[in-house]
Amino acid sequence: MNSRQRAVERQRAMRNTSIVGALVNLVLTAGKVFFGVVGQSHALIADGIHSLADLSTDLMVWVAAKYSTQPADEQHPYGHARIETMFTVGLGVVLILTAGGIVWDATERLINPDTLMHPSAIVLLVAFISIVANEGLYQYTMVAARKHRSGLLKANAWHHRSDAISSVVVLLGVAGSLMGVAYLDAFASVVVAFMIAKIGWDQAWMSVRELIDTGLEPKQLKAIKELINNIEGVNGVHMLRTRRMGGSSIVDVHIQVDEFLSVSEGHRISEHVRHILLESNKNIVDVAIHIDPEDDENEDPSNRLPMRAQVMQDLRRVWAEELKYVDMEKVVLHYLDGQVHVEVFCSRDQPHDLGGRLIEKAEALGYTGDINLYSPV
Ligand SMILES: [Zn+2]
Ligand SMILES: [Zn+2]
Repeated sequence: MNSRQRAVERQRAMRNTSIVGALVNLVLTAGKVFFGVVGQSHALIADGIHSLADLSTDLMVWVAAKYSTQPADEQHPYGHARIETMFTVGLGVVLILTAGGIVWDATERLINPDTLMHPSAIVLLVAFISIVANEGLYQYTMVAARKHRSGLLKANAWHHRSDAISSVVVLLGVAGSLMGVAYLDAFASVVVAFMIAKIGWDQAWMSVRELIDTGLEPKQLKAIKELINNIEGVNGVHMLRTRRMGGSSIVDVHIQVDEFLSVSEGHRISEHVRHILLESNKNIVDVAIHIDPEDDENEDPSNRLPMRAQVMQDLRRVWAEELKYVDMEKVVLHYLDGQVHVEVFCSRDQPHDLGGRLIEKAEALGYTGDINLYSPV
């Protein structure tokens, strides 16, 4: 089996295990909420809501597949990935509020013991079935995780086991209540509520971090920087900035190249860097590169220099007597170290002291650096 087939197999295993997990959770949600109400158990209702919370996570995957993957359009040039992010924040908040509601209700009843529910024995059976079902999902998913060496599947498997633990808490609480310690059922519901709040918090927090444009982890940034630094034509990297978008990352970065490169060669290097970044990490979906001829991270000494039209006007004025020897259409300007360095092409029949005259007269402008003369051979 080649690596491509392996990837397809792994994806299939991912899909199959999550469909089985969602179906089992659907049945458990309905069963636990129904028997929680009929059998008068706080803890079982809370556990049912826990299963519902897990289902909502699966729902997010579906929302992401349906809406977030729409291609970019004129109004949304970066794509629609943040639809998923927004939904996830909303869902996380709903889960946290729900958990808060369960805790609130249980606390009120614990303060007024007369209002405590008295679970019936059927609740024990439902909790037991839930434990067996979730442990079964754990084993089933773990087998697939080992077979495909998938960290994601392993994480899913462990989630099923934590769901089993949630039902163990219910079982203990209800058993305690049945044996006469009435508050244990409500107490168990509080424990389960914290598990629900944890799911909500994890979902919301990741997405809020994305919405406030939190960058990638320092380790990832270092790897990206190293990668760029080793690319041909790159002399330095600074202002590396990253953002997350759905499950993807967006990178923008300044790279320093040789100071006398042509615009087209600088562009060639930047496209090269962009391709290598996109190839190196499939999570990176967008790269913007700014080319620098010198390190401008802390200050940009060339920022105050005049633009080309002004420079040309100044040169024509001070070089008025030499203009007939100089091709003013082909003047190349280099903005470096706070000076304008000038390359000029001269005619063949130039006076022997032309170079000296041009340099001396240009110096009067106060902002020029080297003046380089090129003559036809
Ligand atoms: Zn869960
Ligand atoms: Zn820069």
